[in-house]
Formats: sequence, C-alpha cells, structure tokens
Amino acid sequence: MPELPEVEVIYRGLEPLVVGKAIVSAGCSGHRLRSFQGDLAGWNLEGQKVQAIGRRSKYLVLVLSQTMLGLHLGMSGQLIWRPRKAGMASHTHAWLCFSGHRLDYVDPRRFGDLKRLARPANVSTEDLIDGLMQGRWDNWLSPGPLGAEPLSEGFSPDLLYKASRGVQQAIKPWLMRGHVVVGVGNIYASEALHAAGIHPSRPAGRVARERYERLALEIQSQLSAAIRAGGSTLRDFRSAHGEPGDYALAHKVYDQEGKPCKRCGRPVRRLIQAQRSSFFCSGCQR
Ligand SMILES: [Zn+2]
Repeated sequence: MPELPEVEVIYRGLEPLVVGKAIVSAGCSGHRLRSFQGDLAGWNLEGQKVQAIGRRSKYLVLVLSQTMLGLHLGMSGQLIWRPRKAGMASHTHAWLCFSGHRLDYVDPRRFGDLKRLARPANVSTEDLIDGLMQGRWDNWLSPGPLGAEPLSEGFSPDLLYKASRGVQQAIKPWLMRGHVVVGVGNIYASEALHAAGIHPSRPAGRVARERYERLALEIQSQLSAAIRAGGSTLRDFRSAHGEPGDYALAHKVYDQEGKPCKRCGRPVRRLIQAQRSSFFCSGCQR
C-alpha cells in the first residue's frame, strides 16, 4: 500500500513532468473508484493547464486553470507516465493526455479515488498550495479529519502531548488513526515507537512529555529516511514502469518477530492491535 513517503516521492517526480503542460484530452475506463463515479462528463479538463501540484497526507492535488483534481492511490494505485501512443496496462482507470505523453492511473483493487473541485476564484496558485498543506481543503479530500503533516512546522511533540491527554487508547493505533498526525502507517509506527522506547500498548495519555519529544523526532526521521530511499527510484518513475519502488529500509522491529532486537538482543515480539500486527521489544519498550 502506498504510504506517505511513496506519495511524496511520486509528487516530487511528477512535478517537473506535468507542471506548465496543457491537458490535450482525458479519459476513463468507466469503473468506479471510492467516490469517483467512472464518468468524466462535465469535468472539461481538455485545454486546462496544470499550474501546480501538491500533496496533503496521501492525496495528490493538481491545480488546473479552472479546476482542482484530487487523487488517492488507495491500496494498489500507481501513476504511470508514458509516451502518449503507448498501449494501456490493464486496470488503467483514468488518464490525462499531454502533448507527447500520457499520465495513467492504474489501480487493480480500485480503492483509490479521483475527485474534482472547482478552483476558488481570486486565489493564487501559491495560496492554493499553501492552503492545501495547512488543511484548507481537507473536507473536500477526506471523509475524516486529517492531522498535521509530520514534516511540517505544524507537527510538534507538544501537539502529540496535548492531544493525548486523557486518551486511554493504546498509543500505536492512536497514532495510526491519522487524526492528530497523518502518515504514520504500520511500519513507521512500529519503528518509531521502538526507537523512542515506548511500548505500543501503552495508553497514549500515559506517555510523558519528554517521551513525545523523542517520538516526534523518530517519526520525522523514519519518514525522511523513506523519502530519501524512494528518491533514488525517481529515475524509474520517469520510465515506462512507474512502480513506486521498494522502500524497504533496514527495519529494526517491523516484520522481525523472533529475531534479536538490534539494541538489547531479546527476541522481537508481535501483537495484534486494531487488526494490525505490531512489532516490539519487551526489553527496550515500556
Ligand atoms: Zn530491545
């Protein structure tokens, strides 16, 4: 499943390819996505220029001359940049044609989404993108509330600490809900909690402020490392494949059940929280 670092890498790869280019034509397979009805009639994308691209949580947003397009990759979505005359892969559900190239949205499981919003009048492209990162378009993009961007100034240990007071829910599923901070998926939550020495079952409201200092730093360093690792696959994104790339970093606990903890040597353990596997070390995490 594409996580925030993958979407950030796609965003960085796509920006130089599409910004400033005009959409010559657009099409879709007719299949529905999460909210997309499988019909581009009335969207009038032809002739609109891509003025900017942005990311908010796991959504990509294209700011066009008159419209904004929101795209979510769901469980299995891919964006593929190909020569315009190239054949179409199976499960290609939407495409934008530019002069010489085509941007294909491929999604076998169809949990992704494509949304259109009329571009607000009298707001500059820069303000639209700034507003995106500050959450101004969250209601349009997401059915539920979106937390702070983990790599933005809006994210801090204080944010985690204040939001968690009185919370009985275990810290790992609490973090992964995304309502306080977005982008802390299963791998990043397990790794950041291990690095910060916090047990995944500890109630979020019973983690001290100093420990949130450490956790916030670890969340940022895990995500930044994954983005750096993904950055090296940008070359592939420009080719015909468009695979998001394998960002399997050296995991210290994730998927390491039974192997010795890299810090204390005790076997890494696994437990199920909110239907997801959590990996942790009972020696290092309290
Ligand atoms: Zn350990």
